[in-house]
Amino acid sequence: MRVRYVCDRCGHLMSELTVTPQGLKKLGLYQLTEAEREDIIKYDEGAGVMIVSTICDCCLEPETEEIRPGYTVMH
Ligand SMILES: [Zn+2]
Repeated sequence: MRVRYVCDRCGHLMSELTVTPQGLKKLGLYQLTEAEREDIIKYDEGAGVMIVSTICDCCLEPETEEIRPGYTVMH
């Protein structure tokens, strides 16, 4: 199965990998609660892709911009 990590805020495709069912368990996604899983994992049934919402480095910790006002986020 293909697993695609997409930034929840800017839509940036961070990484895409192909994993076996055994490999899926190693991703740690099944340690999440059911509510958390429903929130961050979406399935594109037709394409057979599992889409995991995450936050990319650019969108992570937006307060960093306030600490360093000259810092420009590049996408
Ligand atoms: Zn982002």
